[in-house]
Amino acid sequence: MTTAIVVGSGPNGLAAAVTLARAGVQVTVFEAADTIGGGTRTSELTVPGVLHDHCSAYHPMGLAAPFFADVELDRHGVTWRWAPVDLAHPLDDGSAAVMERSIEATCAGLGVDGPAWRRLFGPVSERLDDVLADIMQPMLRVPRHPLTLARFGALAAQPAALLARALRTPQARALFLGVAAHMIHPLTRPGTAAVGVTLVAAGHRVGWPTPEGGSAAVVTALARILLDHGGRVETGRPVRSLAELPPADAVLLDVAPDVAARLAGDALPPRVRRAYQRFRRAPAAFKLDLAVEGGVPWTNPDCARAGTVHVGGQPREIIAAEQAAYAGRMPERPFMLVGQQYLADPTRSAGDVHPVWAYAHVPHAWTGDATEAMLGQLERFAPGTRDRIVGMAVTTPADWERYNPNYAGGDVITGANSLLQLLARPRISVDPYATGIDGVWLCSAATPPGGGVHGMCGYNAATRALASLRR
Ligand SMILES: Cc1cc2nc3c(=O)[nH]c(=O)nc-3n(C[C@H](O)[C@H](O)[C@H](O)COP(=O)(O)OP(=O)(O)OC[C@H]3O[C@@H](n4cnc5c(N)ncnc54)[C@H](O)[C@@H]3O)c2cc1C
Repeated sequence: MTTAIVVGSGPNGLAAAVTLARAGVQVTVFEAADTIGGGTRTSELTVPGVLHDHCSAYHPMGLAAPFFADVELDRHGVTWRWAPVDLAHPLDDGSAAVMERSIEATCAGLGVDGPAWRRLFGPVSERLDDVLADIMQPMLRVPRHPLTLARFGALAAQPAALLARALRTPQARALFLGVAAHMIHPLTRPGTAAVGVTLVAAGHRVGWPTPEGGSAAVVTALARILLDHGGRVETGRPVRSLAELPPADAVLLDVAPDVAARLAGDALPPRVRRAYQRFRRAPAAFKLDLAVEGGVPWTNPDCARAGTVHVGGQPREIIAAEQAAYAGRMPERPFMLVGQQYLADPTRSAGDVHPVWAYAHVPHAWTGDATEAMLGQLERFAPGTRDRIVGMAVTTPADWERYNPNYAGGDVITGANSLLQLLARPRISVDPYATGIDGVWLCSAATPPGGGVHGMCGYNAATRALASLRR
């Protein structure tokens, strides 16, 4: 029987394992940590009964991309939940822009910017399946839907700060720039509209859902599918070298390129080693998990209904904060993403104590403490938040690296979203999953289509491994 080993049980490792196992391959997954999941874990980080997502919170790309639907995650225990509104972005004057799943409702709320919002994001949202068929694959190939891709590219290739100028009000501009900032890259650079356009379009197509019980439900379901197909998972099993692995026909690595280079040692061809060494890392995340009695007392009531709140203020502040974090300077007022998953899924709370997930973009490998700056940002738009906090867990860039070797320096998206790395990651190649070692592929978020919980990196890598095994 054909055998495969997957190193790492993040969503991409498990997606690769499931794809191979469904094709009849005998798969074993080795995971260094004591629990599966990588960036998709959930546990009581603060007070008993309050469930916090360690990393990923919302999964628009998981729902929009084909892999989760193909393996029928919902038949294996995943129940998607949506908050009353997906996203709010408050400003100091007490106003807030709101993104709802309905583009009509969103445009109505954006007032004079409604028509421009619809013009920018409506067509991409309507043709999202065709767009994803191309952008969820390596870009160095003949596109399946060239015209649709060209229309998407005309928006995505722009700097986010430039595209935002198509909108007139600070509310609408901030709403878009906050989504674009998920890219964790200076928003004045070419290509930085790509993630914003895709996430807004996905938001208007499938919303920004979160799984009931926490993000861990996604990997629990994937592991269940793997076991159903005869696969195995060994946790507490760090792999230190490819040479220590038992014999297998294929090895897939759910690891960052630098980790892959360490595991492969001299077996890695020098040109691939050099490319992996050149792979650029992103700025870092600094995370606070808060247990908040009664929830965050937002000044604007729409924020109290929103699954995600972007705390970053005016458009120029968001642009400056992202630029500073990239340049190695800690912004005085960092850009923050705040998750209130319990609004979609009340099972995360213990009575009136609710989990609040918040992370700020800080410089790569930053060693300072962002706690006060982050609480200050929260107080700015929700005075009295501090008084309601009954539990807090802090994760620094160094903690991220200890948590998961893929997150070196606190880079939780496994590689900078520079234009080059958007188009060709982790190296320029028609087969970016190939490591240059026979039978060994990379399948982590360092490969196309990049960060996020959608399983497509793992699926794509496994498809190439299967094609090679069948040759
Ligand atoms: C704070 C934060 C917020 C995020 N928010 C979102 C969000 O809301 N939505 C979204 O879609 N994405 C989000 N992400 C990103 C998402 O979590 C990642 O992009 C995704 O988890 C990448 O999956 P992966 O399988 O490539 O790798 P990972 O999830 O990093 O998993 C890799 C696994 O490999 C294991 N491993 C590494 N080296 C070895 C080794 N040598 N031996 C054995 N095991 C090894 C690690 O322990 C880990 O379990 C967030 C991430 C963070 C940290």
